[in-house]
Amino acid sequence: MICVTHGIISSYSTERISHALCLPTSRVELHLRSRRRKYVPLAQAIAGGGDALTVDDATYAALELALMARRCGHAVSWFVNGSHVENRIEYFPFQISCMVDDTRAAACRFDGRTWNLKTMMGRRALRSHIKCQYMRMRSQGEIMELVDTVADSLQCDSKHAESSLRTVGTAELAKAVLAGVDLQNHGWGHLNPQGLSEEERTAEVMQNDEYLSQFRRAITPVFAPPFGQCVTRATPEYFVLLANRGLAPSYKEGNVINRGDFLLTASSRSRRDKVSPAEKDTLAA
Ligand SMILES: [Zn+2]
Repeated sequence: MICVTHGIISSYSTERISHALCLPTSRVELHLRSRRRKYVPLAQAIAGGGDALTVDDATYAALELALMARRCGHAVSWFVNGSHVENRIEYFPFQISCMVDDTRAAACRFDGRTWNLKTMMGRRALRSHIKCQYMRMRSQGEIMELVDTVADSLQCDSKHAESSLRTVGTAELAKAVLAGVDLQNHGWGHLNPQGLSEEERTAEVMQNDEYLSQFRRAITPVFAPPFGQCVTRATPEYFVLLANRGLAPSYKEGNVINRGDFLLTASSRSRRDKVSPAEKDTLAA
């Protein structure tokens, strides 16, 4: 099995939508310290030789997990977007989630409707609606307009994500590589690849590949599409890792392989995780 998460947060709360894809630092630390079978490099896991640990998006939460895994003797692969790192662009799904979490408004107007923000259910409904909008967007400019609109609607003073969900810089990528983290390709930007043409998708992969080559030489080139759904592209030599909760985590078809949620087994799902996998999809980065 190849596991995926988005990082660790020491102040993790199940009441925050922005934390839904991450895990509490203490729980992960316990797991990584006590797991006797170490997570193996991606190539080995793809060949059926053990489990691999992957983390998506170039945030501090992801960096912290990757470094912790290395300290505990595990292999780990980190999927990052070069344009976000190089230009310190925040990940809009986290920006939006943090605004929805932090707004003091009891209700808001968005997209012609009034949204109740007093309950988690109401906030999650708004968050899913916003996701439907950004999944259709084809440029970072459109995304930034959406972030501005959301901030206005929610009367937020700040559009920044909380500190652990902000984007790292080049120094952090270099530090991770030095610690033995396997840096991998999540696309140049973080737009939904399903909304892009095949040429645009290929350019996203190749541009990021070139960017990442200044930090490391990938032994096994792997691409994890933003939002985790399968897309066709023109460079078949890559392994493609999905994060598709509609498919079994063990799904493998040619060079396309699915991942499963890290530390979210069937038995622990209801007890430990108040957000169902289906809901996670609606909130997902
Ligand atoms: Zn991502």
